[in-house]
Amino acid sequence: MAEMPPDIPTDVPTAARVYDVMLNGKDHFAIDRQVAEASLKIMPELRDIALHNRAMLQRVVRYLAAEEGITQFLDLGSGLPTARNTHEVAHAVNPDAGVVYVDIDPIVLAHGHAILAGTANTTVVTADIREPRAVLDHPDVQARIDFTRPVCVMLVGILHHLADDENPGRIVEVLRDAVPSGSFFFITNFTRLGDAPESMDLERQLLEQLGTGRVRTPGELAAFFDGLDVLSPGLVPLPLWRPDTPVLDASTIDVRFMTGGVGRKP
Ligand code: SAM
Repeated sequence: MAEMPPDIPTDVPTAARVYDVMLNGKDHFAIDRQVAEASLKIMPELRDIALHNRAMLQRVVRYLAAEEGITQFLDLGSGLPTARNTHEVAHAVNPDAGVVYVDIDPIVLAHGHAILAGTANTTVVTADIREPRAVLDHPDVQARIDFTRPVCVMLVGILHHLADDENPGRIVEVLRDAVPSGSFFFITNFTRLGDAPESMDLERQLLEQLGTGRVRTPGELAAFFDGLDVLSPGLVPLPLWRPDTPVLDASTIDVRFMTGGVGRKP
């Protein structure tokens, strides 16, 4: 494990570290492994699902940088640095692209600083997206993102860590109002599967052990895209969003449990 910041309680799991377990990372505690193992008992496909989420992130960032000319990425709930992060994918297309990683978990900042030392045009900020105005006004965000030019706002695997009474729809609205026309929103979320009761069993387990983990209906996900033009192929199971190689079986839980898409602000 890389060095952790001081004063981090080691007996309280966090979403960033549980996700790190799923991705076979090294930056987590025993309590995070316990939560991840309990989740995997309910849904053994979760490791593949995490990989699908990362693979879609890479396809979307590459597409937006290469085909839509997006030069600024605000990656909200970015998680611990892992392979092929947003800045690596964006910089492979355009080394001048600006990337700001924002996460509530201070270990993301600590690891980000270590990993990004010497990396140009990339910043890590510790902030809570439940206060979207504070995120937008953060001096490091303001220094890196020019809000008069199109931005890609990334909410990848984070809105399911917000409860309904934290009003994620309003957060998306504040962000949408803050960016100019031609900006993109990239959102993925856990999806309720009517034919797979384990999707709701997982919600129960995560809420109990992690405190967050809201599995949403396709309609609830679609509402996050209100006011945006959704790019083809729409809001779809993650592997089906412009796959690099054909998906041979789209009926499995690993393919269907997370849904996402990309919307453009008109
Ligand atoms: N976006 C990355 C991806 O999709 O690979 C990481 C997703 S990880 C499942 C969710 C991340 O959201 C965690 O790192 C967690 O700390 C962060 N997060 C949860 N609630 C947050 C909040 N209110 N504000 C900022 N970050 C938050």
